[in-house]
Amino acid sequence: MKSYFDIQGDGGSNVVAQVEAQLEAIQSALAGVRFRVAVGSGKGGVGKSTVTMALAQALRAGGATVAILDADFNGPCQAHLAGLTAAPWVPGARGLSVPRRPDGIGVVSMGSLVPADRPVSLETVSQGDEHVWRSTKEFAFLGQLMGSLDWGSLDYLLFDLPPGAERSVQFADFLPADTLFALVTVPSDVARGVVARSVAALEAAGADMVGYVENMAGYYCQDCDEIKPLFPAATTPIPLPLLGRIPFDPALAELCDRGWPEAESQDRPSAQAIEAVAQNLVLALEGRRS
Ligand code: ADP
Repeated sequence: MKSYFDIQGDGGSNVVAQVEAQLEAIQSALAGVRFRVAVGSGKGGVGKSTVTMALAQALRAGGATVAILDADFNGPCQAHLAGLTAAPWVPGARGLSVPRRPDGIGVVSMGSLVPADRPVSLETVSQGDEHVWRSTKEFAFLGQLMGSLDWGSLDYLLFDLPPGAERSVQFADFLPADTLFALVTVPSDVARGVVARSVAALEAAGADMVGYVENMAGYYCQDCDEIKPLFPAATTPIPLPLLGRIPFDPALAELCDRGWPEAESQDRPSAQAIEAVAQNLVLALEGRRS
């Protein structure tokens, strides 16, 4: 795991000890987690957060224990999707307790702490290279957060990553080495091209990728009970196994906006598609372990 650390306080003289302490804290906090899956995409707005929450729901419905860590500090939306916008992390016996939905899915998101009309701002120490410092601070904070939370025993911890190939690579460097990546795209050549670039960048960084999900693969028309085309047919290849295709379903968008108060109706093609993606993901993950 690459080292991101808080270099404030002691002028950097004790950096190695800080890094080692943080890595140890993260490893110990995540010791009870069976699979870590980072859900990313080179492209924004393709439904990465929606797919992450939908997968969490499908895995939970199958009896698994699941939590989500919203690693998108600039645009955190998992708290909203989970209906946990006012659910701060409070100290418990073994660290900060992970806020949970009534169905048991744990969700850690900056959106639970910072009101939706405010930006998440991290203190920066330099003007000229502000973006570099911001990224360093972000990872330092993320590391502290991961190591301070009481994740307990989990089958799956899903990371909802910020968009961008470069960001995905930073996370591949930062997250524990056995984290598996799943990418999300929409079926346009533009999006597939950007995601194919992310695959190349992640491959070069040595990340292990289990496959990709094609979201918004057609539009589910409830009145005609049919999936209609949404994007023109695309041909750009993505060199990963396809985990499944999820149609755009207005009922799913509405569930997201309402904080997903109930499970999606199993009669809908979107729910069946999500279930199939979850099953393929589980097969791919188990395959990595055998
Ligand atoms: P990203 O995380 O990639 O930025 P989001 O998951 O936030 O994208 O999705 C963007 C918007 O599209 C949200 O309003 C979400 O509800 C909606 N959306 C995503 N996928 C679907 C889908 N399959 N059906 C209906 N709405 C969807």
